[in-house]
Amino acid sequence: VAHAALSAQQPQQQGQQQQPVVELKDVHKSFGSNQVLKGVSFAIPKGQVVAIIGKSGSGKSTALRCIDRLEIIDSGTINVCGHAVHDPAIDLRQLRQDVGIVFQSYNLFPHLTVEQNITLAPKAVKNLPTAKAREIAARTLQQVGLADKAQAYPEQLSGGQQQRVAIARSLAMEPQVMLFDEVTSALDPQLTGEVLRVIEALAQGGMTMVLVTHEMEFAARVADTIIYMHEGKVWETGPGAMLKNPQTAELRDFLSHGL
Ligand code: ADP
Ligand code: MG
Repeated sequence: VAHAALSAQQPQQQGQQQQPVVELKDVHKSFGSNQVLKGVSFAIPKGQVVAIIGKSGSGKSTALRCIDRLEIIDSGTINVCGHAVHDPAIDLRQLRQDVGIVFQSYNLFPHLTVEQNITLAPKAVKNLPTAKAREIAARTLQQVGLADKAQAYPEQLSGGQQQRVAIARSLAMEPQVMLFDEVTSALDPQLTGEVLRVIEALAQGGMTMVLVTHEMEFAARVADTIIYMHEGKVWETGPGAMLKNPQTAELRDFLSHGL
């Protein structure tokens, strides 16, 4: 298993340097006097999966939201798919086409069918003709195991199915990187597995991803690199196996006491 934070610095095959898909360097972010990110740095090479774990309030969601410029950083740099996210002149439309983000609340439009929810952005943002957008919707619904639900309305689906539609909707924009923020936290335990299986299949398909998650076994199995955040810093980082052998008292404590 490669270590993303380190391997980003190393030459790829045939001595060719490949830029990381996501790279944060010394990122600081405060809300008023609350310093939430205190110099966060990490890099994700193409095709790798990073899982961010840590206590509630440690800055995980803020770090994720900064990657998509849903929060604007105070200092440091963030580069995503060749976009300088820290640059006030960034083209947000381009950035958001390359970055897919899925939250705990799936926010599907209740008055639209599953297919209409998915085709909305490809039609509006990418100006795709309806037929092409429907083709993409069919493909992404297949990917999340809901090929037969295109004409259903969100209220006819379980929470797990709605979250999978939200993932399909994000995939329909054909992003270069996917960000997931505790996407199973609102789900009953029996619905969590079906969503995690979709994310795992995306990982196996080579999607570059950042997962903020409380599912430790899942993180250890699927992520190339785990980042343990504590009080706004990357406290400890390593491959999945690091969860079996924590180096800091804080991570040891987190793993034994949880949230
Ligand atoms: P986590 O996802 O690890 O639980 P967050 O990044 O959501 O942590 O929050 C970290 C800290 O930042 C918390 O103290 C939270 O209250 C604060 N915070 C997050 N977003 C905002 C915001 N939009 N305005 C003010 N404070 C915020
Ligand atoms: Mg959070």
